[in-house]
Amino acid sequence: MKAHTLETQSTTTPEKALQFLQEGNQRFVHNLKVNRNLLEQVNDTRSGQWPFAVILSCIDSRTSAELIFDQGLGDIFSVRIAGNFVNQDILGSMEFGCNVAGAKLVVVLGHSKCGALKGGLDAAKIENLGMENLNHLIGRFDNCINHVIKEDEERSSSNEDLLERLNICNIQNAISEIRKQSSTLSKMEEEGKIKIVGANYCVESGVVTWL
Ligand SMILES: [Zn+2]
Repeated sequence: MKAHTLETQSTTTPEKALQFLQEGNQRFVHNLKVNRNLLEQVNDTRSGQWPFAVILSCIDSRTSAELIFDQGLGDIFSVRIAGNFVNQDILGSMEFGCNVAGAKLVVVLGHSKCGALKGGLDAAKIENLGMENLNHLIGRFDNCINHVIKEDEERSSSNEDLLERLNICNIQNAISEIRKQSSTLSKMEEEGKIKIVGANYCVESGVVTWL
C-alpha cells in the first residue's frame, strides 16, 4: 500500500476518512493487515505528508493509533496524552492537522482500563506519592468523575462500572471541549470540511467501538 498523496487526501471526505479507520480496525482484529513497505513509505513521504485524520489517544502502550487502525507512515496525525483530554496546545496541534495540513477527521479515542482515569478515581491515594505534575494531570478528570458518580457510589478504580462510565464521559467531554475551545475546528465541522467523532478501544479484544 502506498502512502497518501495530496490527491488522495483532497479527494477524501470526512465520511471516507472514518471508513478508512473502521476498515483498518477490522483488518487489525482479523489479523489481516495490509502489506505495507514502511521503508518505501519513507521515500514516498520524503517531500511532504498528507494525512487524512487526527487521532487523540492515550499514552497507554496498547493504544497506538497506527497499529490498531492498521495505518502506515503519513496517514494520521497522532496526538497522545495520558487520559486523552485536550488543552490549548493539543487543540493547536489539531487545528494545524486539519486547517493547515488538510486532515478530514478528528477522533477522540478512549480505551478500557485506562490507568490515567484509574488514577483520577484513586486521586486521594496517588496524591500521597507526591508527584506534583501527575497530581495536576489526574485532577483533570474530576469534573467527569463528579458528573458520572452516583450518590453513595464508591470512588475507586476497582469500581469497573464507574471506570467505564468515566471513560465514555471523558471522551464526550473532550469532543465538546474541542467544539467549545476551537472556533477553527467547530467552524470546519459546521461547514462539513471535517468530522469530529469519539471512539472507544477495548484492550481485551482490540475492537474499536464508535460512539
Ligand atoms: Zn489510558
